[in-house]
Amino acid sequence: MRADHDERFADRAVEDGLVSTEQVLDCRRFQNKEADQGRRYSIAQILIRRRFITCADLIEVEHALGEQLYECTECRRRYARAEIPDAGELVCEGCGVLVAMEAVARDAMEALAAEGRELAIPLRPSARRPVWSSWGLTLRAQ
Ligand SMILES: [Zn+2]
Repeated sequence: MRADHDERFADRAVEDGLVSTEQVLDCRRFQNKEADQGRRYSIAQILIRRRFITCADLIEVEHALGEQLYECTECRRRYARAEIPDAGELVCEGCGVLVAMEAVARDAMEALAAEGRELAIPLRPSARRPVWSSWGLTLRAQ
């Protein structure tokens, strides 16, 4: 887990009023204790485990921080939420496939967060055909 990201995540969560400074400190103590045992958890994971924040909160904070949570399942190129048009589809810059966001089950997100795997929301190939010109314009505009 990246320490700088941990810091930014905690700061933002406090700033947004999701958690208190005390809750973060509490999680930090737990984090350090676990690290002594060789177990690494991010602050976000611990906040979720303790039910201080929800998975939806986690995703909102990551979006606010501009984290690239979305990953093309074809080529693994990652995108931040702001890079994806509101319609939820884009032509992947990595592989040229038209990919789409899908609703992710809350349980699956919780499992990911708890296991400590890097959070990645899949962008899967869309059944629709790409509209090259308009999507290209959208991507360049951002
Ligand atoms: Zn791709």
